[in-house]
Amino acid sequence: MSFSQLGLSAPLLRAIAEKNYVDPTPIQAAAIPVILSGGDVRASAQTGSGKTAAYVLPLLQGLTLRRREPGRWVRALILVPTRELAAQVGEAVRRYGRFLPEPIKTLVVYGGVSINPQMMALGGGADVLVATPGRLLDLIEHNALSLQAVSVLVLDEADRLLALGFAEEWGRITRCLPLERQSLFFSATFSPAVTALADALLRDPHIIELAPVLKEEPRIEERAIEVDEPRRTQLLRYLTEENGWTRVLVFVATKYGTEHVADKLRRAGLDATALHGELSQGARTQALVDFKAGRIRLLIATDLAARGLDIEELPVVVNYDLPRSAVDYVHRIGRTGRAGAHGVAVSFVSAETHAHFQLIEKRNVRGILREQIEGFEPVEIEPPVPLVLGGGGIKGKRKSKKDKLREAAGLARPVNLETKSVIPAGLVVKEPEPKEFFPWAQRVMVGRRMR
Ligand code: AMP
Repeated sequence: MSFSQLGLSAPLLRAIAEKNYVDPTPIQAAAIPVILSGGDVRASAQTGSGKTAAYVLPLLQGLTLRRREPGRWVRALILVPTRELAAQVGEAVRRYGRFLPEPIKTLVVYGGVSINPQMMALGGGADVLVATPGRLLDLIEHNALSLQAVSVLVLDEADRLLALGFAEEWGRITRCLPLERQSLFFSATFSPAVTALADALLRDPHIIELAPVLKEEPRIEERAIEVDEPRRTQLLRYLTEENGWTRVLVFVATKYGTEHVADKLRRAGLDATALHGELSQGARTQALVDFKAGRIRLLIATDLAARGLDIEELPVVVNYDLPRSAVDYVHRIGRTGRAGAHGVAVSFVSAETHAHFQLIEKRNVRGILREQIEGFEPVEIEPPVPLVLGGGGIKGKRKSKKDKLREAAGLARPVNLETKSVIPAGLVVKEPEPKEFFPWAQRVMVGRRMR
């Protein structure tokens, strides 16, 4: 399937060619013809799947075919969870629409910046408005726009929107929208709440369900490194230098944490910058521009700041602090290995977060080998947890308790077989509880010192 077979017009094909896209991604091949035919779409699509072009291209084509009315009308509304994603989608709309015979007026609005310029810009309406819901509602309250002429509504990253309180906002936005419209719904995950929202706003949708990108293209190498919490910054520095990582996106739980880690890295001579929601929009944009241009080596970000970022060929993502949920984990590591590029996602696992990481693995049905790096072996104390030796776990082939004890005793200095790093002495060897035994886990060793 090629782009020219999807029914897109010549100016759009030219913009695609200029981006050097060879073939449509699966979501593009599935969604573009349906959207062009005017149908509603409910698509499960992750960041990195090419979903933005999947809805922007046909949306633009539809707009060129429909008549533009004078006034403060918005013709297409794209709702996104964060400012970064808003800016990114706005940029995509401009880029894909640049060869269209009639210019497409695209506006991007989000909170955290002055509302006045946005109100002024909306004076003559907009062909495409990309908005975060909170600021959209502010603008509606200020009478700055009318949504009555919206012919296409897009919800991008609907699960993220809901996580940020969209359910209540949607109730107010939907009252301003016409019933007669095309609605396109994109979400990485479909919890009951997401499905209910989709059901509420879509009419007889075409459902597109593609296998998650991560499973389709396992091009992200996931690593879990055991380290004591106070030594994480040193380890991060060591890994960056040792592996020659040129650009690293590091996730830290708090705003203070991002500043603190960035500061320590800078003092150690590395180019690091913090990115969090309390920075001014200008500072955030600048940090991203610098990171994309390679002027910053490590971008230390909170989840909110990093959500939806599209940084092409980002080689490494580090979970300095683990994400809160398994879904967040998938989102975070999806920042690397994008559009087919190879990526590495490293998670730091400490005695405190060990159980939480196991839960993330279990929820995402994956098992990640625990590694230790020589010189950074954890020494922090926690109650003993099970040790599973060998890559086993296939039913009927599990080693007996005695076998495992014998095996562990036989290894004078047990070694992580993959990294060749040494497991510290004093590990507890214990039969795993059945509930903690994951058949899919390729676990060479998991262990902790005794109290
Ligand atoms: P998205 O999932 O929309 O965030 O897109 C992820 C990345 O894939 C972006 O950097 C796009 O520029 C890129 N992309 C989108 N469509 C294609 C395509 N057909 N071929 C190659 N790259 C693409």
